Amino acid sequence: MKKEISSLQTSKDKHLAVILVQGGVFLALLGISLASFDKRVSRLLKERANGFCDGCKEHVGKENLIASHLIHGVKNNSPENGRALCPYCEAEYHLSHVGNAQSIGLKEKDNYSVCYGHVHQLPPFDQDILIQRYSEKWQRVLKKLDKDY
Ligand SMILES: [Zn+2]
Repeated sequence: MKKEISSLQTSKDKHLAVILVQGGVFLALLGISLASFDKRVSRLLKERANGFCDGCKEHVGKENLIASHLIHGVKNNSPENGRALCPYCEAEYHLSHVGNAQSIGLKEKDNYSVCYGHVHQLPPFDQDILIQRYSEKWQRVLKKLDKDY
């Protein structure tokens, strides 16, 4: 069954990925137990980066940066545990940790969902580059999501 991610939303304390099956039928709402940075820390990280990605150092503009955790979890919301990443680097960070998600404070299944959401938000060309580069890990993400949903 073909699935499409319709949105990856961030509420105050959770990232939610909404996965829709083809045809628009609601399939699953994944509540991923990540605590987001609060607005103040998020703003601070983006201001500190000044429009440049802390990963690839490209200038992408403040509005496109994502306040990203190095180590996830409710107790890790200090600015020292954060970076401002472009969408590509954020997707890559999670994809590169498929298989060792616990090293960044995530459950494996939560990291699969986060990967799926972030990769699908990239433009097609960037998706292709990442999927090629991490093809084995990407296959694991797809296989896992297929089995569970
Ligand atoms: Zn980047």
